[in-house]
Amino acid sequence: MSGKTQTAELNRSIGLFSRAVCLTHDVLWDWNLKTDEVYCSPGLKRLFGYEDDELANNLGTWLGMIHPEDKQRVLEQVRDYLADQTGFLETELRMLHKSGKGIFVLARAYLVDPNEDGVPTHMTGTHIDITEEKRKESFDKKNAEILKMIAVGRPAPDIYDAIALMYEERHEGMRCSMLELHGNILLHGGAPSLPKSYCTAVNGLKNGPDVGSCGTSTYTGKRVLVDDIETDPKWRDLKDYALPHGLRSCWSEPVKNSSGEVLGAFGMYYHHPGLPNDQELDDLKSAARLTGIVMERNQTQKRIRELAYTDELTGLGSRAYFYQSLEALIKKSVHQNSQFLVLYLDVDEFKAINDGLGHDIGDFVLKEIAKRLTHVSRENDTVARLSGDEFCILIPDDGELNQSDIAECYLEAVSRPIEGLVRKITLTSSIGMACFPQDAADVSLLMKAADTALYAAKENGKNQFVFYSPELTQKEKSRFQFEQLLREDIDNQRLTIVYQPQVDINTGEIVGIEALSRWQHSELGEVPPLDFISAAERIGVIKQLTESVISAACQQAVLWRKTEHPELRMSVNISPCYFRDKNIVRYIEQVLDETGLDPKGLELEITESLVQIDQRNLDIIQELSALGVKLSIDDFGTGYSSFASLKYLKTDRLKIDKSFIDGMFLDEKISLLLSSMIQMGHNLGQEIVAEGIEFPEQVERLKEFGCEFVQGNMFSPPQDPESITKLLKQRYLPLQ
Ligand code: C2E
Ligand code: MG
Ligand code: MG
Repeated sequence: MSGKTQTAELNRSIGLFSRAVCLTHDVLWDWNLKTDEVYCSPGLKRLFGYEDDELANNLGTWLGMIHPEDKQRVLEQVRDYLADQTGFLETELRMLHKSGKGIFVLARAYLVDPNEDGVPTHMTGTHIDITEEKRKESFDKKNAEILKMIAVGRPAPDIYDAIALMYEERHEGMRCSMLELHGNILLHGGAPSLPKSYCTAVNGLKNGPDVGSCGTSTYTGKRVLVDDIETDPKWRDLKDYALPHGLRSCWSEPVKNSSGEVLGAFGMYYHHPGLPNDQELDDLKSAARLTGIVMERNQTQKRIRELAYTDELTGLGSRAYFYQSLEALIKKSVHQNSQFLVLYLDVDEFKAINDGLGHDIGDFVLKEIAKRLTHVSRENDTVARLSGDEFCILIPDDGELNQSDIAECYLEAVSRPIEGLVRKITLTSSIGMACFPQDAADVSLLMKAADTALYAAKENGKNQFVFYSPELTQKEKSRFQFEQLLREDIDNQRLTIVYQPQVDINTGEIVGIEALSRWQHSELGEVPPLDFISAAERIGVIKQLTESVISAACQQAVLWRKTEHPELRMSVNISPCYFRDKNIVRYIEQVLDETGLDPKGLELEITESLVQIDQRNLDIIQELSALGVKLSIDDFGTGYSSFASLKYLKTDRLKIDKSFIDGMFLDEKISLLLSSMIQMGHNLGQEIVAEGIEFPEQVERLKEFGCEFVQGNMFSPPQDPESITKLLKQRYLPLQ
């Protein structure tokens, strides 16, 4: 037999065979190409939900059952196969079940029964139901998509919807929902196929033992399967929301995070009563697991956002939050052609509180200030803490804004006494203000303008507000230049030291010398110490400056003690910034060692703020005392000393501030204060030095009060070492 005859013979046999099995349970069909009659096996009819006697045996019936979206493609494939006649045809297509639902089939077809001319007269084939495989394939694909959505951080509601739709596609008629548990409240997460009105009704329900299936499962942390919503007691209060929408059964699985904490619930609804089959139960569990990943990730992200955008100490907006809000407000204001105010507030002398009273009290104060700022702010204002004691407030201008009044309100809020501590604290603040868009039109320039205004408020004496003006920027440039020159001169050791004697009030004997820094600049002239000391603190060169003064003053003291006065004591001013430097003790020890100065010959003048109850400061004082070095409190009476904290005093002397000396004859109360301070100081074991003595009458009165030592221009202004050597040779200075 030729190859062609062989093929024809084979086709004939397939035709005969397949028509025979049409009567069996297999899913076979046969199409008479001449008559368009189509016969199919009872099994095939059953596949599509029909009885043996249903469906007319013609092509039209079958074409009508192909899914409209697949019909065109399939017809073209059949036409091509009929024209080509080689091999067999295999294709996947969707067909309609009698119930209306779609079935995926894999169709295979063969041309058979050729006539005398070799032209096939029949097409015969099989339809295999591949719906399950297709669903599984689609499910796996969707699952992968969802995992990708989670990985790339898509918003939780989008992922919730995708999860719901994936399970709904897998189980015809199923509706899915996800609820998030927030504290004690259940909030809508996602339910793309449930009616909106139903979702709204269950949103915000309180978690409890009988709150439908989902509420009960979040409450108990266990799976809840309700086969009939109408009769189940857990649905008693909620069924009126569900039944009108045809919801009859609801199975719910609690959604948990990786540590087993309940985050919400996954619910599956059907329009008929019933319990889940194995597949549905497995899916319920896996759906809850998948949702758990999303909810946990969402929660973590929220927490991270919260952490980044909330200032942990005060609960105000953080720096990051502030800058984001500022950017948004700029955009909005440009769009609406409106303006707003940036108010930059810094607490005056806050460092003294932190340094002197310790960080716990500092924190308490900051929290209290934050509360007050929030209280003063209006609804649309944004209050944030930028760092330490710096706060910023964004104030949109609604047309009724009186900028000065607002600034006054904030100043007033901070300046009210702070109660609730061992003692009352009263603080002030300084405010810089800049207006958008007048003063600057972008984030950094606007903040710079507000900062410049704040600086001006500080410079003008604090406890006030200043509006930004371009002249301030000019001033700032000069300040910058000033700071540069200072840095340069400190680096090159161009600063000098002058010395001022301290005298025994009874004998006039010089007993001590205070070393004071001087800065004479070729362009700036003689710069007042308070100006360059505060600049040095600001730009971080105070350590360098202080250490060079300590070293030079100690060398000078050794010299004078050797040649002029063996008991002479040298005082050096220590700024609080340097005092808190952890190397101070080691440095002093090293200098004493190098110069050979008897520790008793060195006195460190520290400020009142440092001798409060902060343990760290007390420890440093302790260590310095242990070296044998003397300590005195400079400018006593002007700082934050409380009577309560004076009991911690481990110093040797109090140096009473010049302001008390200046005022002693002008105001009886000052005189009274002065005598009380001296008495109290003595009772606490302190010697007293009075500063800024200019007249003999002051010496007289101080003597009466019992003060031991005096210092001031009356005896000698601060002078160069040579001049002081002359005075030391004289040893005694006139007291009148
Ligand atoms: P202080 O430590 O209280 O120094 C005393 C200040 O009072 C000195 O001012 C001194 O010149 C001035 N003074 C003394 N007697 C009289 C007087 O009879 N009449 C008047 N009107 N003034 C008098 P000075 O030298 O201008 O220093 C000011 C402040 O600068 C010092 O106050 C001290 O706190 C600080 N300072 C100076 N040098 C240094 C230093 O090297 N390091 C640190 N950290 N601070 C320093
Ligand atoms: Mg001093
Ligand atoms: Mg002083």
